[in-house]
Amino acid sequence: MEYKKQGINTICTHVGELEDTQYKGAVSPLYMSTSYAFEDVDIKRYPRYFNTPNQKALSEKIAALEHAEDAMIFGSGMAAVSTALLAFLKAGDHVVLQNMLYGGTYNLITKQFENFGISYSFTEGLKPSDFEAKIRENTKVIYVETPSNPLLTITDLAAIAELTKKYKLVSMIDNTFASPVNQNPIDFGIDVIIHSATKYMGGHSDICAGAVASSRSNMERIFQLAINLGGSLSDYTVWLLERSIKTMGIRVKQQNKNAMHLAEYLDGNANIKKVYYPGLKSHPDHALAKSQMHGFGGMLSFELIEAIDATEFRKALKLIKSSMSLAGVESTMLSPTQTSHALLSEEDRYKQGISDGLIRFSIGIEEPEDLIKDIEQALREIKVSQPALKS
Ligand SMILES: *Cc1c(COP(=O)(O)O)cnc(C)c1O
Repeated sequence: MEYKKQGINTICTHVGELEDTQYKGAVSPLYMSTSYAFEDVDIKRYPRYFNTPNQKALSEKIAALEHAEDAMIFGSGMAAVSTALLAFLKAGDHVVLQNMLYGGTYNLITKQFENFGISYSFTEGLKPSDFEAKIRENTKVIYVETPSNPLLTITDLAAIAELTKKYKLVSMIDNTFASPVNQNPIDFGIDVIIHSATKYMGGHSDICAGAVASSRSNMERIFQLAINLGGSLSDYTVWLLERSIKTMGIRVKQQNKNAMHLAEYLDGNANIKKVYYPGLKSHPDHALAKSQMHGFGGMLSFELIEAIDATEFRKALKLIKSSMSLAGVESTMLSPTQTSHALLSEEDRYKQGISDGLIRFSIGIEEPEDLIKDIEQALREIKVSQPALKS
């Protein structure tokens, strides 16, 4: 296919762009119409039918980025997640999900699925055998998220794809944390790829959107439900998202580099108890991450030593803001127990290994030296002795 001949930054910049035939402008024109002619036309266009010129153009770019035949853009990541799942699950069906999931997805499953008559099982661990152990006669879907939030665990994509083929299931992945720059699950045989485009695709903390990419036949099935659920995105935001994705390759590659730099720094700092980053050789899944990712991503988590209060530390930072959400060009930190995982019971949090002192770090595109300086001034500010190197 054509996309395979082009590098990531060329796809980001050019695939799907609309030609301005009227004025020869350099970028895709924006078509805000919600009303299009129905006579003498090739297709009946309407925003909620996901087929306006800008929606089609951006879908083509996202499909190319994920090595997929087709893609659709949604009004949020959760619109993408819920539409994709419900397109393949009906009353009486069962879904196997990995035990560490984005909080919103966990809530969708645990709060709503019973109402739809859909049963579910979360795995005990992340080994292929943990997934196989939960498969029942009525299982239809396996759902994974790798790297996971917030501990950056890695799930074996090729092994999941093999399981789904063996049991004739559909495999789905939330590929948000990796972004298409760092991971293309279709190359490992995963069927349906989901993104919260609010994160790396948008990249500037100013767009809420979602995307799904898959084969043409899977996308047709998702489309048939999507037009009923109505989770489409405004063309203006679609146009902004196209612009944002043009720089996704260079942003994410810089974030990969910065994250590696910061992970090594934190790992060598005596005030830090533990660092979770798949790029570190000490990460238990480092080899697996290396085998299925092009880069290790811009997200890491760390635990401060018990003597340091995580909230006090975060508040003493000046450059790095405490903020919900992630993946912007600016570096941010948050405490999962206070935000993304606040709805989990304390017992469930500890079972997943999420301690009160855990900090999730979304690394931006700033110079890594400035981020390190900020961390060191914060530690000094809260009267922690100068960061000593671990012996
Ligand atoms: C943010 C996020 C979502 C949900 O996306 P929204 O755009 O907020 O609806 C889903 N999965 C992951 C991994 C996310 O980080």
